Amino acid sequence: MEKKPGVLIVDDRPANRHMLARALSTLDVQIHEAESGEQALAIASKEPELFVALVDVRMPGMDGFQLAERLRQVPEASSLPIIFITALGSDSYYHQRAYETGAVDFLSKPVSPRVLLSKVSVFLDLFRNQSQLKGLIRRLDTVNAALSKQTLRLETAAEVMHQIASILDLDELLMRVLSLTRERFGYDFAGIWLRDDESDGIVLRAGQYGTPTPVREPGAAIALNAPKSIIAHVCRTGVTYLTNDTSADEHYLATDELPPMGSELTLPLKFRDTLFGAVDLQSEAPNAFSPEDVVALKTLADQISVAIRNARLYAEVRRLNEDLEAKVEARTNELATAYHHLELLDRNKSDFITVVSHELRTPLTLISGFSRVLLEDPAIESDTERWQEVQGIVTGADRMRAIIDSMLDMLKIDSRSLRLKPLRISLIDMLAEIKHRLSPTLEERDLGLALEGLEALPEIEADPSALDKVFYELLSNAIKYTPDGGQITISGEPVPSRDEGSDGYVSVVVGDTGIGVDPEVQELIFTKFYRTGEVTFHSSSKTRFKGGGPGLGLSIARGLVEAHGGRIWVESPGCDEEKLPGSDFHVLLPVSQPHSGKPALPA
Ligand code: ADP
Repeated sequence: MEKKPGVLIVDDRPANRHMLARALSTLDVQIHEAESGEQALAIASKEPELFVALVDVRMPGMDGFQLAERLRQVPEASSLPIIFITALGSDSYYHQRAYETGAVDFLSKPVSPRVLLSKVSVFLDLFRNQSQLKGLIRRLDTVNAALSKQTLRLETAAEVMHQIASILDLDELLMRVLSLTRERFGYDFAGIWLRDDESDGIVLRAGQYGTPTPVREPGAAIALNAPKSIIAHVCRTGVTYLTNDTSADEHYLATDELPPMGSELTLPLKFRDTLFGAVDLQSEAPNAFSPEDVVALKTLADQISVAIRNARLYAEVRRLNEDLEAKVEARTNELATAYHHLELLDRNKSDFITVVSHELRTPLTLISGFSRVLLEDPAIESDTERWQEVQGIVTGADRMRAIIDSMLDMLKIDSRSLRLKPLRISLIDMLAEIKHRLSPTLEERDLGLALEGLEALPEIEADPSALDKVFYELLSNAIKYTPDGGQITISGEPVPSRDEGSDGYVSVVVGDTGIGVDPEVQELIFTKFYRTGEVTFHSSSKTRFKGGGPGLGLSIARGLVEAHGGRIWVESPGCDEEKLPGSDFHVLLPVSQPHSGKPALPA
């Protein structure tokens, strides 16, 4: 029960004390009576609730003034208001002394009970107000302390969040988070334990101690099924565990190697369904964790869990990336080696073709020359069978020479050693001449060849023998891939250039009513040695329907056209030997060549 406010009455005469006490009987106060100064001092030192002292000035032994002086030295009573009761009220000397000793008022004998009551009531009111104020201050202090703890928690949470966002290395991050938590909240140990599924254990990943020497080093392990371990318990169940009194806790394990702790809070570290481990906080004092602390620390544990998950994802991505990089590097090396081999092979092949082509040319010239002489020999001329055989040799030798020439052209294009000798030429004249050259074949195969709109074409600057090869090749192909009775058309038109200062282009299209070209191979047919169909079934012929060649013609044609700064491509709905959709081979050539003297090969 709360003590009542007290009045100390000091007088050697009981009757006086009695009178004073009676005058105050209506107040709800405790009256303490003392018959001497000594007694009064004893009461004052053990009664903190005193709010006023009524002191008789004249007393045997210690008088009122002396008592007042002594009272100032008693800590509990140093500011106790004193009212002196004196018979000598009018004496100013006494008044002066009394005030010096700290008296606040005087009452002269005989004391008027009404006056006494009213004066004491004033002090009682004052005391009550003061007590209320003190209570208020105490409450404010408590609220303040709670607020600053909450602020601290919030600050810590914000700082932890900041660390999580800014530190990528998990170990560094965990250490920072632990030391922040431990120092701010004043715990004696903070540790993060992670489950290790391979060993079925829990390993200390990071620990922060209040003592300078760590009690347990990172790497220390506990078995997941340890029966007496709060950490193992939380790592198994995934549920927060709080003990504010370890001495009465069934899971708390007290050992000699670890410092004794009074309270422990262990929070699971989990993200969705994955339980990573636990964060463990310990304090030597019991009751270290308030419910607010637990709420704040749960949030913290959640943040740590997210950080662990992010770090694991990051590590996984990095590992995958490293794997991928290693694989890409290995493949790149393999490709580089293969490319190097191919380059060597290509060079060998080019050297081989050069040597063979040159070596074959001389005997071929001999075969062709002598067989032509034989054709005119009267003995053979008269023998039709023989003559046809020799004619066969002549055709074969010519065909072989054409192939060898194509291969040498290809090599020149490949090695960029082709030199053009541009002249002004009329395409209509050139194409008419080629038509004339091919007319026996056209007749034999019953194919029509029409030249359309070529009169409108301007003369162009080009190498005549190169262009002759291009169009001869396109026409030969048109003949080869168009069945008997079909139609070939060569049309042309000038194409003005969008660039100022350029003389523009001419476009020539060689169209046929033949088998057509599949869209998938329309680019491929311009590459070296590409031929559609089975190589071994190819009948080698320059003019027969579907008579194949070595697959060099279009590739050389493209090389020559591009050497002039032009373009060549095919347009065809597809390949169909029955429906005969036909093909259009387009050649776009510039009217003028650059005059730098350099070959106009595109890069
Ligand atoms: P080839 O020596 O086989 O004729 P080319 O480089 O001249 O080699 O042609 C490559 C391939 O392009 C031919 O095998 C053929 O399949 C296809 N081709 C060329 N011209 C035509 C055409 N006018 N119509 C259909 N296919 C064609």
